[in-house]
This record gives sequence, structure tokens and C-alpha cells, in this order.
Amino acid sequence: TTGRFSGQIAGYSDQIRTADGLPAVRGVLERLLADTRSVHVEMNATHEELSASRDRVVEYEARVRALQAELAQMSELVREDALTGALNRRGLEQQLAIEQSRAERKSAPMCLAVLDIDNFKQLNDRLGHVAGDDALRHLARVVQDTLRPSDTLARYGGEEFVILLPDTVPEDGEKVMIRVQRELTKRFFLHNNERVLITFSAGIAARRAGEPQESLITRADRAMYGAKAAGKNRVQRAEGD
Ligand code: GH3
Ligand code: MG
Ligand code: MG
Repeated sequence: TTGRFSGQIAGYSDQIRTADGLPAVRGVLERLLADTRSVHVEMNATHEELSASRDRVVEYEARVRALQAELAQMSELVREDALTGALNRRGLEQQLAIEQSRAERKSAPMCLAVLDIDNFKQLNDRLGHVAGDDALRHLARVVQDTLRPSDTLARYGGEEFVILLPDTVPEDGEKVMIRVQRELTKRFFLHNNERVLITFSAGIAARRAGEPQESLITRADRAMYGAKAAGKNRVQRAEGD
């Protein structure tokens, strides 16, 4: 609008310069005044629109902030892995703390197993990522069905799970994990009617008095890597347990 107006003013000044008398100048001035008024009206309207938009932006920004806060609060509360329904890292941390103090109080044994699927990258590469996700769900279901209700399954990372076995000594923990392995050979993962065998390697560590979470998980993890190194599809106990 103001650009157009500048153009018009240039035109009017030409007309005034070349006007041949007062009446002609007067006509030009009248048109100039009319244009000035209409530019003014337009600018006022634009200004109002602009300030309404600004109000809306402020309002939206406040809404976004509120939603972000809500989201942060929600994810604080999420304890479950969305894909498998097992506990997630946060859920594991909380459950492990509960089980550790319970075992401490009752002087009860407790085991923690780390389970890592064998050659999972190959399965993904061969059957696709969606089938890989299905395989993870299948494994989680078979493990849950094989464990006791008081045991806990958590997804620790991509294709790595942690299992808490309260009131369990290492020999029995090993038996539980071998039972899960056997169950997996019976309950095939079916992909497009193809039977796909899922195997895993696992390490088991028994809780020691006053042992921090990280240390217990690390010992089980090391045993799991021992099982991988020994040829996979096996269960290994932590050193010294
Ligand atoms: P290893 O027997 O030594 O454990 O070999 P691996 O192939 O199982 O282990 P590696 O660490 O090489 O690969 C893990 C693969 O798991 C790679 C990654 O793409 C896949 N993966 C991790 N998370 C997910 C997931 O949520 N869904 C799917 N489909 N794949 C996943
Ligand atoms: Mg693996
Ligand atoms: Mg892994």
C-alpha cells in the first residue's frame, strides 16, 4: 500500500508542476487528500491485524510450553517399552531398586539375567525391520509366559533384555533361562508362514550384599558376552557366582 502511495505522490507532484492554474492544482490536491485518507484507513486495519496475530502467537507459544511440560511429565511416568510391553530402562531401574531392598531385608537370593538375541541384525536384514519388531514382541511374550509372575522382564536396549529373578539362586536362574530357550525352539516365530528360530545368549549374576545396580548388570552383561564368545545360543553364569 505504501509503495503504491509513493508512486501516486510522484505522479501528483508532476501534475502540480505542470498544472496551468489554481483550479487544476486544487483538483490534484483533492485527489491527493483522498488517497492519503484511504492509505491511512488501510494502515490502521493492517496494524490491527498485525497486533491480533501477535496476540495469537503469544497464545500459541504459551500452549506449546504447556504441552512440552505435560509431555516431559508424561515421559517421566512411562515405565513401559511401547513395542514389547516389557518395562523400559526407567521401569527396570525402579523395579530393581525395589527387588534389591526386598532381597536385602529378607536376606533372600536374587538373580539378574541379561539376554541378547543372536544374529538379530541378520534377521532384520533378511526379513525386514517390521519382522524384526514382531520377533522382539514374540520373544518378549514367550519369556513372559515362561517366567513366574514375580519375575520381571525389561527391555534394556534394542534387542537386549534384562530379567529379574527374585528368590532365585544362580543354579535355578540358569534353569529358568534354559527353559526359555527350549520354549523358543517350540514356539516358533512365524513370519509369512516361515518358521524363524530365534535364539539368544544370556548371562546370569547373583546379587551380592550392598551391590550397586550397575555392578550387578555389568557382571551379568559380561557373562552374556562370555556366552556369545563361547558360540552363542547358551547361558553362562557370572564369574565367581
Ligand atoms: P550378536 O549375535 O553378536 O548379538 O549379533 P546381533 O546381530 O544380534 O547384534 P548387533 O549388535 O550387530 O545388531 C543388533 C541389531 O538389532 C541391529 C539393529 O538394527 C537391531 N535392532 C535394535 N533395535 C531394534 C528394534 O527395535 N527393532 C528392530 N527391528 N531391530 C532392532
Ligand atoms: Mg544381538
Ligand atoms: Mg546387542
